[in-house]
Amino acid sequence: MFETDLRDVVQRSATGALPSGAEVDEIVARAHARYAGLDEGDVADYIPILAEADPAWFGLALVGVDGGAHVAGDVGVAFSIQSISKAFVFALVCDELGHELVHERVGVNNTGLPFNSVIALELNDGSPMNSMVNAGAIATTALVPAADDEDRWRRVREGLSRFAGRRLDVDDEVYRSESLTNHRNRALARLLQSYDRLDADPDATVDVYTRQCSLAVTARDLGVMGATLADGGVNPVTGERVVSAEACRDTLALLASCGLYERSGEWLFEIGLPAKSGVSGGLVAVAPGKGAVGAFSPLLDPAGNSVRGQRACAHLSRSLGLNLFASDPAPAAAVASTNEGVA
Ligand code: GLU
Repeated sequence: MFETDLRDVVQRSATGALPSGAEVDEIVARAHARYAGLDEGDVADYIPILAEADPAWFGLALVGVDGGAHVAGDVGVAFSIQSISKAFVFALVCDELGHELVHERVGVNNTGLPFNSVIALELNDGSPMNSMVNAGAIATTALVPAADDEDRWRRVREGLSRFAGRRLDVDDEVYRSESLTNHRNRALARLLQSYDRLDADPDATVDVYTRQCSLAVTARDLGVMGATLADGGVNPVTGERVVSAEACRDTLALLASCGLYERSGEWLFEIGLPAKSGVSGGLVAVAPGKGAVGAFSPLLDPAGNSVRGQRACAHLSRSLGLNLFASDPAPAAAVASTNEGVA
């Protein structure tokens, strides 16, 4: 679908830097205009308050590693970050505890099953498999080093705020709505505990996880947060180092394989970027060394990914040369000089 839809858009390779600022502005505006009228998908309603979202909302923000923002549409509309928080909490935990512990304690393989699957946990001897599904995200939140649960929440909120470059606050209505209906996440936490896979109290950890999912962000915030991962862990707007370059690398590798629910393979094949989506309609796609796209539009595909967000990212990936797998051959003279003396 993506390939056919984009036949008229020239595929640029990932070799080199982003085009000029004015060109990026124009391409972002074009991608937004192209999909603003697309009416496919459904607004999530399993968390009751999310059903109140306006299906017309659509914001697109590309933030470069130079800190420049290129925006179109509803980039100032706030929505709950939901699953996208998982990516940034994972980065914070990787930064504090390192690659090996997270690999061993949570895992880094896709489950191939829905994000809130209980069967996935049972099929894998209690391993949550990865930090982008709910079980793995709850286990990851429990790993955030802290004196107690309130301190854990404070660290999560402050960490995500550093990624955004501004203080993020909870949307209380979303938090209440999800707290009253998150029975499945509570069950997942108990099941993790029964397998000795949870390093903190189950109910308190689900509460921290629910608060982290309820943090209010905008598409522009997602662009800045993603650009921090594209910039080796330094927020390009504030200049603050948020996490190490290694933690960014680990996070992006995980997002490439697990960021778009059961559609992660399809996404990587079509768009070629590490990314994470959430059920309120947010999407962040990261082009390492270049920048990130933050998108928001609440109409979702059956897996829970924003339809307009995905289509706009496909357009941007192609026209801005973001797809990591699209390279240009090195110029002949450079190849010849590199090979000198080989024969
Ligand atoms: N807070 C939501 C949940 O735990 C996040 C779901 C999502 O965005 O995938 O169900």
